[in-house]
Amino acid sequence: MVSPKLWKLAAIPLGLALAGVPAAGVYSWLSHYIEQQGLNELNIAAKRVIALTEARLARVIDGLDDLAARGVRSCSGADRDAMNEMSFHVIPVKEVSIVDSDGGTLCTNLALPFGERHVISAPIESTHSEVVIEVIRLGSGNDNGVRIRRTIADAAWLAALIPSDLLIPRISPTGGPVEVNATLTASDGTRIGERSAAQRDDAEPRESLLARYPSDHYGIVVTTSIPRARVLAAHADLVMMATVGTGSAAALILILVALRPWRSRGDPVDELARAIESDQFVPYYQPIVDLSTARIVSAEVLVRWRKPDGTLVPPAHFIPLAESTGLIVPLTRALMRRVRVEAGSAIGARPHFNIGFNLSARHFIDEAIVKDIRAIFRNSPIALSQVLLEVTERQPLENLTMARRVIAALQGLGVQVGLDDLGTGHSGLSYMLKLGVDFIKIDKMFVDAIGTERYSTTIIETLVSLGRDMRLDLIAEGVETFEQVQHLRERGIRKAQGYLFAPPLPGSSFLKLLDASDPVPGADEKGRVEQADAVIRQATMAAA
Ligand code: C2E
Ligand code: CA
Ligand code: CA
Repeated sequence: MVSPKLWKLAAIPLGLALAGVPAAGVYSWLSHYIEQQGLNELNIAAKRVIALTEARLARVIDGLDDLAARGVRSCSGADRDAMNEMSFHVIPVKEVSIVDSDGGTLCTNLALPFGERHVISAPIESTHSEVVIEVIRLGSGNDNGVRIRRTIADAAWLAALIPSDLLIPRISPTGGPVEVNATLTASDGTRIGERSAAQRDDAEPRESLLARYPSDHYGIVVTTSIPRARVLAAHADLVMMATVGTGSAAALILILVALRPWRSRGDPVDELARAIESDQFVPYYQPIVDLSTARIVSAEVLVRWRKPDGTLVPPAHFIPLAESTGLIVPLTRALMRRVRVEAGSAIGARPHFNIGFNLSARHFIDEAIVKDIRAIFRNSPIALSQVLLEVTERQPLENLTMARRVIAALQGLGVQVGLDDLGTGHSGLSYMLKLGVDFIKIDKMFVDAIGTERYSTTIIETLVSLGRDMRLDLIAEGVETFEQVQHLRERGIRKAQGYLFAPPLPGSSFLKLLDASDPVPGADEKGRVEQADAVIRQATMAAA
């Protein structure tokens, strides 16, 4: 039998053999077709930029409404505290201020003196009658932003400032990895700001494909663009075939049929999606140790991509793409199922033992994760109360109300939720704590600083007292030296993970370690300490 691959190869000469129309005709038709595809993608991207920008503006307006309803109207300490809280809560807001009738700033939530602010546009139309939105130049540079003012009593206004880089979302055309440039302008043409694609393109605008999309709710317009050369390059294989051959419509169709799977095979998003379907993501387990008893009390699952050729790809190489495309959701689901199968009975046999998973901002835009966790763990050997979930602070949670609802629903299942990478992201501490979590992971950055000049005891001590006041469990990450252990213990931190104890271990090694260091009553205990040592020694050597 002819394999599908061979059949597709055969389609090319077959297509070319059906020649009839001059090559130039096919080439121009094909270029037109590819451009049209590019424009479709740009249109979709523009609509998404507008929708996300509108949502951010609406959230800020809600925040200002809320402040006004609470009677915030002066520069008093209590009012500035309320303004401060709003700037922590509502993600794109950089500063909240009280503004007089001439637009002059009377005070801001920040204690620091505020820089120059010039209004550079006419008010932007909006469906909210109480607010005035205008484009502001920040400082003397070329940075613009948007200021939203809302009337309060005494001819004063409450105003929120949003820098353009927090207002305009980063976006890729079809959810794929190629980012488009997006420019946001007021309807009168005043530039608000732009997001450039990761790779800087110096192409002339006339060499770019453009799509424009206005907002229905605000007087703003987004223009998305991709250099034409980049669109053609993405389809280079097709263009080449059409140039080389002479083709008829039939030839073209056969070429398209032949080449489509080739193109998609090179597409990293497709590759990732197929790898999830074929179960190529494997859990590694990093033990977490109780510093007072030296016992392993839980493990964090860290994903690895084991490709069919045996290469092991670390998460930094694929998690960002999985997050930006939403594939992180099925990936996490597959990983959890795999842990249930591989380690379910070992974990289930130790009811005191916890198993942790990492979640991304993407998991907090709806309640799908709650359903997934319930479906995966409810009737499994691993009890829901053994499951820990880590929420990273590295990416902002877009919808805080929804995030809080998801966290509460997960806690309702008996799962514990914690904050990961605290202090490394964009949000303030108080904002993150409003999420109502059960534990905090102290980032490696702070552990690393112990014993160095960079170290200031304040951060770890603040976290410790916060943990005590709010009854949060603290786990120190990335512990590599005994000195760090000593220091953490002196500060009353009970739990830690790091290469000093063990690196992330493949399933088989982790299960051996668990058997040796935390034997289930009745199991064979002979030589368990030696065995545990041997497992860690071997794994540490492999990780080095
Ligand atoms: P993370 O959640 O902060 O995980 C801790 C990282 O620190 C892991 O890197 C771990 O191997 C490493 N590490 C642990 N102890 C030490 C140490 O003593 N020294 C040093 N230098 N490093 C240590 P890894 O496995 O490469 O994971 C990197 C990041 O990828 C994770 O950071 C997490 O944000 C993300 N990630 C991993 N698995 C998943 C997953 O299943 N889902 C999601 N959403 N993200 C994941
Ligand atoms: Ca983590
Ligand atoms: Ca971390």
